[in-house]
Amino acid sequence: MSVLNPKRTIAELKELRQLTGDANGAQRVAFTPTWVKTRAWLTQKLSELPVEIHTDAAGNLWATLRGESEKSLLIGGHMDSVPNGGWLDGCLNVLAGLEILRRINGQYHGQPPVTIRLVDWADEEGARFGKSLFGSSACSGNLDMAEARGLKDKNGVTLPAALREIGIDFERVKDSGAELKNAAAYLELHIEQGPVLLDLNLPLGAVLGTFGVERHAITFHGQAAHSGSTPMNRRKDAFLPAAKMSEEIYKIAARSGNGVCTIGSCTTKPGIVTSVVEECRITLDQRHLDSVALATMLGEAKTASEQFAREGNVNVAWERLWQIAPRPFNDQLIALCDEAIRETCGQVHRLPSGPLHDAAEVAAAGIPTVMMFVQSLHGISHNKIEDTKEAHLELCVTAFDKLAEKAMKWIE
Ligand SMILES: [Zn+2]
Repeated sequence: MSVLNPKRTIAELKELRQLTGDANGAQRVAFTPTWVKTRAWLTQKLSELPVEIHTDAAGNLWATLRGESEKSLLIGGHMDSVPNGGWLDGCLNVLAGLEILRRINGQYHGQPPVTIRLVDWADEEGARFGKSLFGSSACSGNLDMAEARGLKDKNGVTLPAALREIGIDFERVKDSGAELKNAAAYLELHIEQGPVLLDLNLPLGAVLGTFGVERHAITFHGQAAHSGSTPMNRRKDAFLPAAKMSEEIYKIAARSGNGVCTIGSCTTKPGIVTSVVEECRITLDQRHLDSVALATMLGEAKTASEQFAREGNVNVAWERLWQIAPRPFNDQLIALCDEAIRETCGQVHRLPSGPLHDAAEVAAAGIPTVMMFVQSLHGISHNKIEDTKEAHLELCVTAFDKLAEKAMKWIE
């Protein structure tokens, strides 16, 4: 009987790093030769198990261990990385899933009570075409076909052309949705990619869902005037209300509970040292797990911008750049994840995910979903310095395996 061996997962992560990384980090960009090589390596490992392996219409790789029931427990991750990426983002999830498949296969002599399926989503990172969650959004049905059809990489190659190269027909990618037919639960392990668990000195967290996002450009319009000849009380300074917004968003975020707000860019016109600012454009990114709280944060920012504009005798205009709804995870699975973590290391923290993950797409497709986070050192990812303590990696494989077992019982 095969028992869970988290040390093997760490060894395999290192093997993968050796095979697909260089001095600058991981180079498993989706649909490139290195990614194809990664997939071949993974398939080789999977083929040592009595699983059925195939690639779906969107290029997602599925390994299925048939159980007594057709109802399926899905475990997912992504083998692709950004260029010069870290050694854990995405592939930790898949390789932990591989180890769990081995354990379940051994314990249940090749036939668990429910079907277990490991999925390696295609192009989670969107590094080449600027569109993340490609494979999972095709599978969930949320992929915007018109937008995706027009995507080009920096050499002008279109996404449909790149897919054709690896034998995928772009027009049929949503056929991959058939894979979710018997899906009863979806689990995903991931490095946190932020500092929350590190600051709490906790190895593992249960993820409540992924944040909804409201992204806007706010433009204040005043009047350009000479910086020497214009008295302070006669100015229509477009920068002043923008500057007030910078402080205000901290108050808005604090009132919201665990929301976050970011002014990520600020451009001024005419943008010279001797002129009062005529036009100031800032971008505001707001995120919250609760849709009502997110709407409140947005409303408060609008009200504040109008007030500051009035006070400064300038105009303000808002333009929505992007938006996505919060994707809360399944309450019962969150409770099981919590339990699995407590049993493994005594203490747990529940936290929302700022970044989007494939799990958000699966949740949007109506499949009960949960994620588990493991602490990130430096709170950094998408960088070769991305790291997690090996002791924590072992703990996360153990806890994630316990969660898989609990989820299997829950599905039954
Ligand atoms: Zn990832």
